[in-house]
Parts: sequence; structure tokens; C-alpha cells
Amino acid sequence: MKINNFSAGPSKIPQKVLDQLSVDIINYQNLGYSVLELSHRSKIFQDILNSTKNHLQKILNIPENFETIFLQGGATFQNTIIAANKPKLMTDLTFLLSGTWGAKTHKDFQDYFKKEINSIVLSNQKFDELIEQVNNLNSNYLYITSNETIEGIQIKNFKSFENKKLIIDMSSDICSYEFDWKNISYIFAGAQKNLGIPGVTICIFEKEFIENNELTSYMNLHNHIDKDSAFNTPPTFSIYVMLKVLEWVVEIGGLNEIENNNILRANKIYEFIDNNPSKLIPLAPKQYRSSSNIVFDFKDKHQTDLFLKKSYKDGFLGLNGHRSVGGIRVSNYNSITETMVNNLLTYIEDFILD
Ligand code: PMP
Repeated sequence: MKINNFSAGPSKIPQKVLDQLSVDIINYQNLGYSVLELSHRSKIFQDILNSTKNHLQKILNIPENFETIFLQGGATFQNTIIAANKPKLMTDLTFLLSGTWGAKTHKDFQDYFKKEINSIVLSNQKFDELIEQVNNLNSNYLYITSNETIEGIQIKNFKSFENKKLIIDMSSDICSYEFDWKNISYIFAGAQKNLGIPGVTICIFEKEFIENNELTSYMNLHNHIDKDSAFNTPPTFSIYVMLKVLEWVVEIGGLNEIENNNILRANKIYEFIDNNPSKLIPLAPKQYRSSSNIVFDFKDKHQTDLFLKKSYKDGFLGLNGHRSVGGIRVSNYNSITETMVNNLLTYIEDFILD
């Protein structure tokens, strides 16, 4: 049976990357051992790490005054390590809350600082109104989740928040479009959506963002900078997979090409939903619809359950909405192909007509 994997993360890896990994796991570069067995102190792994960093820097056009490091602990650990390394945020940060992940980070920051942190909520306001609201805030820093993976809400016009320094959780849309770094201070993302598998978190931040501090060991970002992401044993294989995915990104034409294709596929799905108003309901506000995660539901809830059970049996994986919201979620990350989307839409059409 042909599998169409639309999981929200860990998610589909491009076939070409999988083919390469399957060779490298058995015999890396004909050396007679596996890439899984590489010492993190070996020259071979150092080259992999440097190449991964260089690829990211080129693809994302990271300015020279930014550090790029790889950590563990997922995006979730960022909620603590950022707060710890930047105590100033306790009084100089506002959260733009557009969904579950931002809300979790907001709570973690409040728990860490033992203090209420200002927030504004994205609901149905027009983007212009939102910008005005944000630009009128007193705080210098603004936290946003560029793509709320559960609610399917995306904001990527970072430049519009012109007088704010942004801290951005890009876990579910990193490397899916180009952006200007002008007002960005810190971005982070777990790798398991657009950049491979879990285990490594990408952190890119302005050198002057981190304050001098006395944090110990793994908690102190200066240690990770000084030891070039190898303060302790880094997740070697997750980093290697990321390198292979980044090489694939370059090969297929880079971020502009990726963004255009992602948008084309997403629009096709949204159009299908909008064209079937008697059966389907889109769940994200139109002006913030994500091209990474498309969330909708059947009008008749009974159909949702039936669809999810049937589609899973027929090889469509990961279509269930997050357990907190239910419904259907189609994750349309970089690795998703047009054929997969066509297969899915034909499948939903047949289901609706049945
Ligand atoms: N932020 C976003 C936007 C996410 O989608 C996720 C995971 N789905 C997280 C944070 C949490 O990531 P992790 O499980 O890697 O800690």
C-alpha cells in the first residue's frame, strides 16, 4: 500500500534523504562503519557539524553578528534556557499569543520568573490592527510563534513589528521561507518538522543577546557557544540528518522555490475546503492561515471519526488534529509532494461523495 504521511512531527523525510541515510547507516562513505558510530570528537563529525552550520547560514542568510548553535531538550527546553540567560526579559517582554505553543512558553516564562508577563492575544483582528497593537506596546522584546502547529496559524511578516526585537519559535516553519533578520534577536526550532528528526534544536541569536551570567554547565548558553555546540555529546545522528535535509533544500532550489511550492499546495487544500462549505469547516482565521499546517473539520463530527479511521487504514497517516482540538490537520511541510496532496484531495472528495 502506498503511504502518504502528513504527520505534524516527527514527519515525512524526503525520499532522496532516506535513501542516502539507509546507505550511511550501514557503511558511511565506504569507511566500513556506520554514521551512527561516529565519535563526536572525530574530524569526520566536526566536518559534519561545520557543514551543517554553514548550510544553515547560507540558506537562511544568517547575519555575521549571530551565533548558531545546536542544543538538545527540544523547543520546550528553550522556554527555560532563554529565560535563564536573559533575565532582562522578566520586565521587557510581551508575548503575542496565537496558539497552544506560545501559551505554554508564556506559562513557563511566568513560572520561571515568578511574575506575570504581559501578553496580547491574536484572535480575529486584521493584521494591520495587530501590528498597531504590538508596535504600541512598551516592551522592547516581543515573543511570537511564527507557526502555531496545532491551530494552523502563521505569521511571517516579521519586519512589520518594526520597533520590537523578536524572539521566535520557528519549530514548524523554519526553512520554509526567506525572512529579514533586521529586528530578530533569537530564533529557535526543533528539527523534527522541516529539518529532519527529533534530538536537535536549532538556536540562532544575536551575539549580544546573552547577558553575562553565572549559570552552570548546560544551562549557560556561553558554554555552548564557546564549545561550538559540543559542550557535551551532541545528538550526532540528528545533526547528520539535518545536514542531508539541508543539502536537499539546496538541491531542489532553496527557500524561494520551497515557499512557492508550499503555498501552491496549501492553497489547493484551502480552496478545496472553501469549495465544500456544506461538508467542511476551516478552523484558522483566514488572514492567518498557515501553509505548514492546515486545520479543518467535518461539519458532521461523526464523519471526522469515520474519515480518520478509514484514511489511516488506507495509508494516509497523521491526519488527526492535535488531541487538544480534534478535527483534521494536514501538515504540509517541505517534504510533502504535490502528488501526495492530489492523492489526499481525491480521497477526501470520494469520502464526501460516498
Ligand atoms: N513549538 C512548536 C511550534 C511546536 O510545534 C512544538 C512541537 N510540536 C513545540 C514547540 C515543542 O517542541 P518539542 O517537542 O521539540 O519540545
